[in-house]
Amino acid sequence: MPEPIKPTTPSQRRMPAIFVGHGAPMVSDDAEWMGLWGKWGAALPKPTAILMISAHWEQTPIAIGATRTVPLVYDFYGFPKKYYEVRYPAPGAPDLALRVKALLAGGGPVASVPDRGLDHGAYVPLLGMYPKADVPVLQLSIPTLEPAALLALGRKLAPLRDEGVLIVGSGFLTHNLRAFDPSPTAKTMGWAVEFDAWCEQALTARDLDRLARYRQEAPGVALALPTHEHFVPLLVAAGAAAEPADAVTYPITGLMWGSLSRRSVQFG
Ligand code: ZN
Repeated sequence: MPEPIKPTTPSQRRMPAIFVGHGAPMVSDDAEWMGLWGKWGAALPKPTAILMISAHWEQTPIAIGATRTVPLVYDFYGFPKKYYEVRYPAPGAPDLALRVKALLAGGGPVASVPDRGLDHGAYVPLLGMYPKADVPVLQLSIPTLEPAALLALGRKLAPLRDEGVLIVGSGFLTHNLRAFDPSPTAKTMGWAVEFDAWCEQALTARDLDRLARYRQEAPGVALALPTHEHFVPLLVAAGAAAEPADAVTYPITGLMWGSLSRRSVQFG
């Protein structure tokens, strides 16, 4: 079994696990949003590596992406050319890949997709949080949309936090493409406000069982989440933080584009 990763930073302590509302390709031009990410990244202990679970990679069985620097995945269409020229050449994280495989051993197969680079759900927030691209990154696929299984996945990955690894779930609490309204006069939808507030309550109460029942219990869920891939990375991060010692804070909040919650969560 591979050895735990040796922390290389001087002030090593248990890393938080986080959920980040990941924006969109054009957020790399949004100085306010990039500034919030930059501040958040600077406030965290510097990770030895980042384990990224983004809404934009669903694959079963669970798969690990590239373990060396490969081109990004521009998984969006019809944007200006410059967004296809963005680079984020973070080092690969082969040691972390071995650790992830070891931690998931016994839970079924773990696939490797050596050419799979970071998608925009992964690299856009990292452009803000770690602009030097100097922290090794490994992306892990979302293997299922089932809340209980994703909390369990997070719990299995939790030991990485003691090895300096920042576990990042990347998505959006609310994600209804039909309701996007980027105009300055966009009216904020009541269902988005209610759903966001319900999530805040469940998270602040550290009630992960309730959080996992969001499809049955959260107001506005049918409109907030016509599909679930953007929400569920939160459950992996929450599972990695299922300890009473982990305080829950919200480094970024607020609704934009009429219905999109930017709420981002730090556990620990
Ligand atoms: Zn997205």
